[in-house]
Amino acid sequence: VTAGTLAELARAREHSAHNYEPLPVVIDSAHGAWARGIDGVEYLDMLAGYSALNFGHGHPRLVEVARAQLGTLALTSRAFQHAAFAGFCEDVSRLCGKEAVLPMNTGAEAVETALKLARRWGYDVKGVAEDSAEIITFAGNFHGRTITIVGFSTDPDAHDGFGPYPPGFRTVDYGDLDALAAAITPNTVAVLIEPIQGEAGVLVPPAGYLAAVRALCDEHSMLMLADEIQSGLGRTGDTFACDHENVVPDVYILGKALGGGLIPVSAVVADRSVMEVIRPGQHGSTFGGNPLACAVGSEVVRLLDTGEFQQRSRELGAHLHGLLGQLPADQVSEVRGRGLWAGVQLAAGQPGARVICERLLARRVLAKDAHEGTIRMAPPLVIERDEITWAVEQLADALGER
Ligand code: PLP
Repeated sequence: VTAGTLAELARAREHSAHNYEPLPVVIDSAHGAWARGIDGVEYLDMLAGYSALNFGHGHPRLVEVARAQLGTLALTSRAFQHAAFAGFCEDVSRLCGKEAVLPMNTGAEAVETALKLARRWGYDVKGVAEDSAEIITFAGNFHGRTITIVGFSTDPDAHDGFGPYPPGFRTVDYGDLDALAAAITPNTVAVLIEPIQGEAGVLVPPAGYLAAVRALCDEHSMLMLADEIQSGLGRTGDTFACDHENVVPDVYILGKALGGGLIPVSAVVADRSVMEVIRPGQHGSTFGGNPLACAVGSEVVRLLDTGEFQQRSRELGAHLHGLLGQLPADQVSEVRGRGLWAGVQLAAGQPGARVICERLLARRVLAKDAHEGTIRMAPPLVIERDEITWAVEQLADALGER
């Protein structure tokens, strides 16, 4: 790490909240799957902004659309409709096979929106008594950082010390169908699920689980809310992670890559029968659905419409998982994931994932631990095959370092 980098890190520590502990690198430009540090070193990005950068840094079509929109109209608020709004809603609805879109900005806001929608649907449609709706969530979940969301987090770092928390949530083990069935009451209005748990370490539920959750939701008249913020939009080799089990949730929650890695864009997508429970004045956002967001979001849908990114994720993901599967069992106990998304579980006795990520940084690979023992690999979907090979070689080297 150069003196210049250390000085810049120290300067930031002096004047910023210490709510992150970034790896010792300071990036000043990036293109595609590569980022350059202020030390002039080029790093291969194997995190992709937690999947916000599925299309890579500075995708030419996204940048072009954003530039054009910036030059014409960037913000109106939702008090007035703008010319990019209808197209965006049409595009995202079609992508999801749903009827209506409610645009927000960040992932956490979209999750909050879905929770509000589910509660209101529970009262207005399901007939649950006012203020008694229950929503089921899962151990290990990560849905964002608001008070409500951290209230049902099972991660002590995320959860502890921010109470009191809103009531109305029950948490059951992820992947345990009996536990889910046992937690359902007549007041349960929804199940909030990550089809693959990202922050928990890229946990893929047992085969058939999502379909069984879908069936329970149908049986007990509950909404299935799929948080596809990290798993969706090509990451797993399909447009949505739910697609792998041919499951269609009642509500898609989207974010991250929907903004093309350029700006925050999130959305809740559902059929009219659900969406219509929210009426004018009952929910909104100053920046949600702004012209710049809509223009970029529409172009993201057009990129996904080609199928190219889903296919890259599928094919290159098979290559990534093939290579990771060859790492020695005394170093790596398990590799989980789907498509270009992998959680590499370090074997007992190995250094922590953070140490391995520091070693990877020294080898010009940007990766991030997901909890103590897992290294996550989630490169931009524009990464090339030989770059993946090289990244896994660096990982093998880093694991072998004494
Ligand atoms: N949901 C999931 C599955 C996520 O992975 C994340 C972010 O990592 C969020 C929600 C929160 O998104 P944001 O950080 O944009 O609020």
